[in-house]
Amino acid sequence: MSSAPNTKKEKNCGPHTELIANEHTRVTRCACGTVHVHVLSKGLSLQIQDEEFRFLVNSFSAAQRVIDYTESDVSEIRESNDGVLN
Ligand SMILES: [Zn+2]
Repeated sequence: MSSAPNTKKEKNCGPHTELIANEHTRVTRCACGTVHVHVLSKGLSLQIQDEEFRFLVNSFSAAQRVIDYTESDVSEIRESNDGVLN
């Protein structure tokens, strides 16, 4: 057998620690520091560096706050805050 050596570009990946798992999402963290996000309903899988993951999560939660804010009584907010988002 003269098969080519198995040259993996990736670093050695250790065992994954499961951070959360529910019916929608499963998030694991590899020993190498990569966070794996599985969006089960979309069949989507992301591999993100842990620092990047933090930014992503902050962005998601900020976006969710805006959604919640927008879905509350907007006209009332505009009257009291003159439409300015804090
Ligand atoms: Zn890894």
